[in-house]
Amino acid sequence: MEKRDYYEVLGVGRDASPEEIKKAYRRLARRYHPDVNKDDPNAEQKFKEISEAYETLSDANRRARYDQFGHQDPTQGMGGGGFEGGGFSDFGGFGDIFDMFFGGGRARGPQRGADLEYELEVDFEDAAFGIEEEIQIPRTETCSTCGGSGARPGTQVETCSACNGTGEQQSVVNTPFGRMVNRRVCSVCHGSGKRIKSPCPDCHGQGRRRVRRTVKIKVPAGVDTGMRLRMPGAGEPSPNGGQPGDLHIIIRVRPHEIFERDGNNVYVDVPLTFVQAALGDEIEVPTLDGNVKLRIPEGTQTGTMFRLRGKGIPKLGSQAQRGDQHVRVHVITPTNLTERQRELLRELGGELGETPQEQTRTFIERMKSAFLGNH
Ligand SMILES: [Zn+2]
Ligand SMILES: [Zn+2]
Repeated sequence: MEKRDYYEVLGVGRDASPEEIKKAYRRLARRYHPDVNKDDPNAEQKFKEISEAYETLSDANRRARYDQFGHQDPTQGMGGGGFEGGGFSDFGGFGDIFDMFFGGGRARGPQRGADLEYELEVDFEDAAFGIEEEIQIPRTETCSTCGGSGARPGTQVETCSACNGTGEQQSVVNTPFGRMVNRRVCSVCHGSGKRIKSPCPDCHGQGRRRVRRTVKIKVPAGVDTGMRLRMPGAGEPSPNGGQPGDLHIIIRVRPHEIFERDGNNVYVDVPLTFVQAALGDEIEVPTLDGNVKLRIPEGTQTGTMFRLRGKGIPKLGSQAQRGDQHVRVHVITPTNLTERQRELLRELGGELGETPQEQTRTFIERMKSAFLGNH
C-alpha cells in the first residue's frame, strides 16, 4: 500500500498553520475514532493514518524534516522511526489520541480500555435518600463467537506473510548519516501480525462486538446534579490485554413539582390567606419526610421565611447530617368576593385606616422625603 502524503491525509495545505493542523486532526480523529466506528473495518486504519500524520506535522522539527525528505526521512519513520537495533514498540500516534480523549498516560505496552460516560437521571427524592438503579451500558466486549480471534469458528488465524507475524516492516535506507533501518507498521495486517482468511460472521473479524450490558449502580444519598460517580473497571475493555477503563456516571436530578434545592437545603413556597397571616395559624407543610405542622405567628408578612431544621437533603457521605427546609409564605389577596365579604372588608378597611400600620407610615414618610430631596 502506497503511503499517502501527510498533508493530504489531514486535508490541509502545505502552508497550514499549527492551529489549522490541530483542528483538522481533531475533526478527523473524532470521525474515525475506532470506538465510534465499530461497523467500519477501515476506520481503525484510517485513524492510525490520521494520528501518524498529526504526530509528524504537529512537531515543528519533524514537520520540517518531512517537508524536506518526505516519507523517506530516516530519522522519522512511522513506528516512531528507529535506528538499527533500536526502534520503538508502539504504533505512532495511537498513544497520543488516547491521551487526548481519555486523559491517560502515554500508552506503552498494553493500553488501558477507554472510559465511558453515562448520564443518569434520578428523581428528587432518590437523589436525597439514595437509590439502586440498573442501567444499560453499550460497550465493547470480546466477541463470544470467535473468542476474540476474529476468525470464523473452525478456521485458523494465520500469520501475516508480509511481516512474518511481527506486525512491522523494515526497509533499509542509505542516508548521509549512514545505513538506517526504517520500521513501520505492516501495511498488510496493520500491525496485528495476523491474517484472517475467513472472518467471524458476528464481529466481522474485529474480535470485539458492541453489546448492551446491565450495570447495577448504588446512587448514594445526597447526590446533586453534575456529580460524578466512578466505577473502576466498568468501562471499555483494553484492546490488547491491559486494564479496562472506568465508567463515569454523571448525575442529573429531575426537578420537583414543589421542592427546590440549593445545596443541601430545600425551599418550598406556601400560600397563606391574609386572615391566617394577620391572626396567625398552624398549617401543614410538605417535607421530604411527609407533612409537618408549622406555626404561623400573628402578623406574618408575605415573603417571610421559616426554617425547618434538619428537613433538607442528607449530606453526601454522612447521612445523619441534613440541610434545612426553608418555607417561604405568600399572602394571597382574596378574589371573587361576595357582596357580604366586600362589606366586611370595607368595614375592616375603615377600622385599619384609623390605626395606620407601621409599614404604611414609614413608607409615606420615605416618599415625602424622597420628593423633598428631588425638588
Ligand atoms: Zn467474532
Ligand atoms: Zn503483517
